[in-house]
Amino acid sequence: MVRLKARRTALLLYSVLLVLPTVVLGGLHWHQLWLDHQAELAAVPESARDAARRLADGISEHVSLLLAGEDARPFQHYAEIVAPEAPLGDQLSLQRSPLPIDHPPRGLLGWFDYDQSDGYDARVRLFCARLGEDADGTPRYAARDELDGAAHEILEQTLEDGFLRRAARLGAVRTVRVPLVVAAVSRAQGADLDCLRRLSPGGEPVTVEVNYSQFHLQFHVDAGGVPRPVATRRVLMADLDPELVREVPCLEPLQHGFGLVQGVFLDARWLFQELPMWVSDRVLSGSERFLDEDAPPRHDERAEFRLAVPLVKALGFETRGDRDQDFGHVNIVIDKGEIVSRFEAQSWRFFGVAAMLALTLATGVVLLVRSVTQELEQAQQTENFVAAVTHELRTPLSTIRLHGEMLLEGWVADDEKRTEYYERIVRETSRLSTLVERVLSKSRLSAGTTTPEPADLSALVERLRPALEERGHGDLTFRLSAELPPVLLVAEGVAGILDNLIENARKYGEASPERPVEVETAERDGEVVLEVMDRGPGIPAQERERIFEAFYRVGNEATRTSTGTGLGLHLVELHAASMGGRASVHDRPGGGALFRVALRRA
Ligand code: ADP
Repeated sequence: MVRLKARRTALLLYSVLLVLPTVVLGGLHWHQLWLDHQAELAAVPESARDAARRLADGISEHVSLLLAGEDARPFQHYAEIVAPEAPLGDQLSLQRSPLPIDHPPRGLLGWFDYDQSDGYDARVRLFCARLGEDADGTPRYAARDELDGAAHEILEQTLEDGFLRRAARLGAVRTVRVPLVVAAVSRAQGADLDCLRRLSPGGEPVTVEVNYSQFHLQFHVDAGGVPRPVATRRVLMADLDPELVREVPCLEPLQHGFGLVQGVFLDARWLFQELPMWVSDRVLSGSERFLDEDAPPRHDERAEFRLAVPLVKALGFETRGDRDQDFGHVNIVIDKGEIVSRFEAQSWRFFGVAAMLALTLATGVVLLVRSVTQELEQAQQTENFVAAVTHELRTPLSTIRLHGEMLLEGWVADDEKRTEYYERIVRETSRLSTLVERVLSKSRLSAGTTTPEPADLSALVERLRPALEERGHGDLTFRLSAELPPVLLVAEGVAGILDNLIENARKYGEASPERPVEVETAERDGEVVLEVMDRGPGIPAQERERIFEAFYRVGNEATRTSTGTGLGLHLVELHAASMGGRASVHDRPGGGALFRVALRRA
């Protein structure tokens, strides 16, 4: 018993050891999945900021390249007519300005300049860039009136609040020596050429020093509400030697040098839309998307994360106010839906695997519990059997021995007593042989070596009747149908069935001539049956399945007080099965047990 209990504990321990680590490991894995997901979500704003930095850097790089090209452009090109920097001898030939009006760098709308020292009277020179062609092939230039208005606005602002002046002072200064004639042609358009030729009489040109500041970005929204990104620089030339001006009077416009503000109009559409779009295609990756300001807002917190990039601020434009600062927002959008759906997919996979594992574990544990329980039950039955057989053997053996020795030693003088003792010895011996016979039949029937043959059931029972009746005291009645079809049977099997069932009915069914055991053969629902009925306590419904198991005994008072091995009904079932039939037990109407063996027709 202790061993059985230990086995049960081992089974329990085994199940716990199997299930517990699975649950713990599964829980840890799920927790880790969840943490990773949270970390991924938490990293979204940082990667958006990173993407914004990359976008701003890319745009800034392009604008710097554009301005580097403009930085390299000499100030004198801001004119209709220019003089080449290295004229041959005193040859002074003029040519059109190489300012690339017809093939402007992408993103430029035009160039402008004015001499700031002329104050409000300053003349703004404007060179509008050609932006493309109309459908009919006529070239299309940037709107002159608009740019002119914007340039004048800049001029006025420059003078009013020093905005551009201050800005133009920023940046490194580069000093260049320029032939005076070149400066003169550029600044004093239409000057007297003969007069200017006097400037290089010996072939050695007179040069002047010109200081350039670097281009600097400014932004404002003009009076018409149009955004005007511009880049301006200052170009300064010092006063000329009065002596020289006297000699060459046509230099008079330059006698006090100049303080130019030169600038380029950047194309706002290019800068705030096309360029960011182009750059974003190259620097954004994966779930990062670019969204310009015009796109309709579709702001779903769960599905995406948006970061507005204020381009004016990010590119370092100088502005006049906060309103201008906040202009030119584009958005970086990070698609969180992908992260969320990846997590959802992972969760589904996880729970799928977990469910399968749980199912497998549960099935495994159930099967294990079942097989161990079965094994335990079998062990229990064998234990019961051994105890029962031992008991069954001991009682007759000790009776036989006791009576035998008493007879042998001449203790029994009385003849009648002696005969009774001999009878007892014979009875006990036959009990012993029944027991041995049953154990042997069980193993023989389990091996299944008998072959049933067609015969008449009622005739066979009739033949067995005298032997059966002999063992009782008129407590048997027979009702045998004479019109039964032949069935497959083994005579020895039917005898065994009747023996056991009648013995049980006598033992548990309190049979007497008043309440006899009834034996019946009949045809029921097309089946040929052999039935044994009594008026005893019957078999409780919950026991009916089990009483046919080997060594199983109902645990009630009647069983405990009667001798038995738990083999009788098992043998009945084995006999029935060996003939292709089956045994069952039923409630008998009016009380008692009804055992039925249905046999196969031949
Ligand atoms: P046993 O050797 O104990 O008689 P059986 O296999 O013949 O073993 O019977 C199994 C159990 O079924 C018995 O222990 C008894 O409790 C119950 N049983 C058998 N026949 C009857 C009956 N006619 N009436 C009531 N109980 C019975």
